[in-house]
This record gives sequence, C-alpha cells and structure tokens, in this order.
Amino acid sequence: MCALQAIFFDFDGVLLDTEPVHCACWAEVLAPAGLTLTWDYYRDRCIGIDDRDMLRTMAEQAVPPRDWDSLWALYPAKKLLFQARMKTPRFETSLTAMLPDLHRQFKMAVVSSSSVTEIEPLLVAGGIREHFDTVVGGGDVTTQKPAPEPYLLAASRLGVDTALVLEDSAAGLASGRAAGFEVLAVRHPAEVAGLLRDRLG
Ligand SMILES: [Mg+2]
Repeated sequence: MCALQAIFFDFDGVLLDTEPVHCACWAEVLAPAGLTLTWDYYRDRCIGIDDRDMLRTMAEQAVPPRDWDSLWALYPAKKLLFQARMKTPRFETSLTAMLPDLHRQFKMAVVSSSSVTEIEPLLVAGGIREHFDTVVGGGDVTTQKPAPEPYLLAASRLGVDTALVLEDSAAGLASGRAAGFEVLAVRHPAEVAGLLRDRLG
C-alpha cells in the first residue's frame, strides 16, 4: 500500500458539531415562508447535501410547491444567523491538540459542501486555520458530494495521490470513496482524535 500523504477532514459534523445549528438557522429563516424544517428531516435528508440541493428538494415538495429562487434568497439571512450563533466555535480539544503534529507528517485539507466564507472564519476563531493547507468549499466545485470532485480538487491542490478522508454523512463517505481514498466514518467530532490514533498508530 502507498504511504499516506494527506488527511482530508469534512467540516460539519467532523471538525465541529455544527449540524444542529445549521438546522436551527434554516428552520428560523424558512418559517416566515411557511415552511417547517424539523431536525429529523434535516438529519435524514439534508446532512452532507449542498444547501442549494436541499432547498431544491424542499421547494419541490412544499405544498404548494415554491420557487427555488425565493428560498435561495434566504441564504444570506441564514448565513448571518449562523455566524452570530457560532461566534466562539468549540472545537474538540482532543483533536485540536493533535493537529500540529499531524500537519508535520501530512498535508491537510478541509473539504466541505459549505461555503468557504462560512468555514474559514470558524477555523480562524478556533485558532486552527494554520494547520490546513487548503479549504475546499461548495462554491469551488461544479459537482458536490457524493460526487468525487471535492476530494479530487483537494488532492490536486495539494499534489497528493493518497489521502485519508474523515466524513460523517452518507454523501460525504461516498464522495471520499469515489475519489479513491481511504475513508473513516465519524459519528461525532469527539470521536475523531481516537479514530485517527487507531488508524495512524
Ligand atoms: Mg459532514
């Protein structure tokens, strides 16, 4: 087996427990439009999916059906709400403590369907931005997870052929595998440090 050159981290649900916050913020901005977003629906249908695709499905399934543009127009309000709620992101200290050592051995990237403008301020606020060589966001690719493009773009930016991918969603796990990389399934950010220690020794 080829030596591992890089570690690629999904963001939401892997580096930070953001999914319940994303869900609450979307629910809040969609409510005045008469749309209800529950955690059960979001957890089962929306995690790991690009926001645009999530809203496309919601617009089609709404009664009466909505115009996608009218829902996407709510994105700036959702983004502001999310930023306000995430002012002091709490990354797992078990993970942040091992990032400098990992970065001495591997190239590192964050590979997410969220916008880089949402992710990067949180990495900076958490004091861990310097440990990642690049951040791939949803706006950087034309085909989102579960397609392999986000992970292939990260590999191309860093000039690596082998990588370990950490993902929590079905779409993300499929994306990492489709890119040809080894993939570790994460259930919560608190597990990540242990998973990495078990895999890397
Ligand atoms: Mg995720």
